[in-house]
Amino acid sequence: MIIAIDGPAASGKGTLARKIAAHYELHYLDTGSLYRAVAYEVLKADRDPNDTSAAFSAAELLDVDRIEHGQIRSAAVGQAASVVAAKPEVRAAILQIQRDYAARKPGAVLDGRDIGTVVCPDADVKLFVTASPEVRAHRRWQELSATGHPVDEAEVLAEITERDLRDTSRDIAPLRQAEDAYLLDTSNLDIEAAFDTAVGIIESAKK
Ligand code: C5P
Repeated sequence: MIIAIDGPAASGKGTLARKIAAHYELHYLDTGSLYRAVAYEVLKADRDPNDTSAAFSAAELLDVDRIEHGQIRSAAVGQAASVVAAKPEVRAAILQIQRDYAARKPGAVLDGRDIGTVVCPDADVKLFVTASPEVRAHRRWQELSATGHPVDEAEVLAEITERDLRDTSRDIAPLRQAEDAYLLDTSNLDIEAAFDTAVGIIESAKK
């Protein structure tokens, strides 16, 4: 079974995807981490994320099983990730990695921006997880504050709005809901309620 979960930054899709993967005993891939890892390597080499050849070289060297998750969560890497992610060369290099991952047995949950539309258009179930920008900014602010990275909530909202705009307006694989995806708005749902709703959708799709 392949489950595709897309949505904007800080919509709760990652937490939800991880819980769904654990519940159904499936592999889990956070595809944003691939773009973040590319951006991180570019920044580490002191190159500009707009530099296509630097971004493409980093994408070609990417190993999905060796991503340093601790290093790639900062807002700066997130911004740079959305810059490298707008490059067709980078997306092409990462596409096959994601499809190979989706083919792992007994199946996988992938979350990102274009899983239901481009990476796994034939996924068994597609969810589009969203929430209002204010709710998403508040959640991300709470997360960052809890990990000892105090930030201004208004800044987080500005960062999320900028990234949403870049992700939805790019020419290649923009963030959008697939026609056959279920919309899950988590603005007024906690993670348990969102999980219960998602499982209900998956169970009825399996029948
Ligand atoms: O999901 P996360 O916020 O970690 O993703 C970082 C960036 O990677 C996104 O803002 C987006 O530009 C890019 N991305 C993408 N396609 C995906 C996953 C992430 O373009 N499938």
